[in-house]
Amino acid sequence: GDIFKKRKIAVLGSRSVGKSSLVVQYIENHFVESYYPTIENTFNKSIAVKGVEYDCDIIDTAGQDEFSILNAKHAIGIHGYVLVYSVASRTSFEMVKIVYDKIIDFCGLQSVPAVVVGSKADLQRREVSTAEAQELANKLGCAFIETSARTNLNVGKVFELCLGEIEKRYRRRGAP
Ligand code: GDP
Repeated sequence: GDIFKKRKIAVLGSRSVGKSSLVVQYIENHFVESYYPTIENTFNKSIAVKGVEYDCDIIDTAGQDEFSILNAKHAIGIHGYVLVYSVASRTSFEMVKIVYDKIIDFCGLQSVPAVVVGSKADLQRREVSTAEAQELANKLGCAFIETSARTNLNVGKVFELCLGEIEKRYRRRGAP
């Protein structure tokens, strides 16, 4: 079968929701307590899912807010998105829909492959319930998962889900 597929995944969301921590936990297998605000980093990792090997570029972005204009680099050539909010921040949750809408608007598409990620699930003081986040993900047609980079909960799952969403899309189109 096919052995090697190149995939580009962009990690988006409000500042300090834990995007860098998530990516660093995934790539380097450790939790960074206080990470310098990211400008932008691209990490490369080979990921095997269901017998297929994916050569992935994971782009950790600086973070977005309602006023930021979507960077063309985060739309052109990107196969899938990881949209991160913190379960302890309602504002960051509201940004998920805003960012998603900016992407589909920029791309001129009805939908794009994406995973909605509720980060910092280890925190007790929540502002966003699992049920309402799942509901938003359903509405947007995205996969959904809650994670903790601190306790390494579901970190690998994020990228597997994202690759799965990308595959669904390609299968529908009948592309390789
Ligand atoms: P980014 O700006 O979205 O890349 O966020 P960072 O990765 O820099 O994280 C922002 C802050 O949240 C840092 O102080 C992290 O240590 C903290 N943080 C990140 N992930 C988690 C997590 O899973 N649980 C907890 N409790 N804190 C986290």
